[in-house]
Amino acid sequence: MKKYAVGIDVGGTKIAAGVLDSSMNMLSVHVTKEHAGQLPNEVVDSIEHAYLGALSEARISPGEVAGVGLSFAGHTDGLHGVVLTNSNMPEWDGIPLRDIVSERLNQHVILDNDTNFGVVAEHRYGAARGAGDFVYITFSTGVGMGVMVGGKLYQGHAGTAGEIGHTVVAVDGRRCSCGKRGCLMAYASGLALRHRALERIQSGEEST
Ligand SMILES: [Zn+2]
Repeated sequence: MKKYAVGIDVGGTKIAAGVLDSSMNMLSVHVTKEHAGQLPNEVVDSIEHAYLGALSEARISPGEVAGVGLSFAGHTDGLHGVVLTNSNMPEWDGIPLRDIVSERLNQHVILDNDTNFGVVAEHRYGAARGAGDFVYITFSTGVGMGVMVGGKLYQGHAGTAGEIGHTVVAVDGRRCSCGKRGCLMAYASGLALRHRALERIQSGEEST
């Protein structure tokens, strides 16, 4: 019987796959960092490894899986299952990742970005239960925001509603990976925090 779901998160630095039962209990989590900085083909291999690893740790067979939620840290067009421009991974522009992974895993796959899945999860199971209108902001490798309006995920005409990472917060500020200056992501993302810490250490500041 198909009574399990698998969630796979493709982040900038790691891929995590988890198996859930119908009561949303997490049965296993398998994390791999082997894909960091790799091209789409290699990342698809890593997605498969993470998927099979999580199934094996939960002692579940692929035939028991009802579907896969695939989240991607970057702009996505969830309706068409396509990855859009991502300044951290430019090779990904236009890749139909949902269908590629669906074929590889032989499973029904839903693709969206990590933030939009976060919005839906917080609405159903987390801090925003009962709220119809709210925003959800993630700080990970990048910075993202998802929007729920009237109890529905608001995706916008291209699937990127609420993406605030490249909003300019400091005119002529720090250079961002997108090429502009002063984006929020150039200050508040995981990558930016690392760069800023390195700069301060290199300029002689004390650090543990
Ligand atoms: Zn930017």
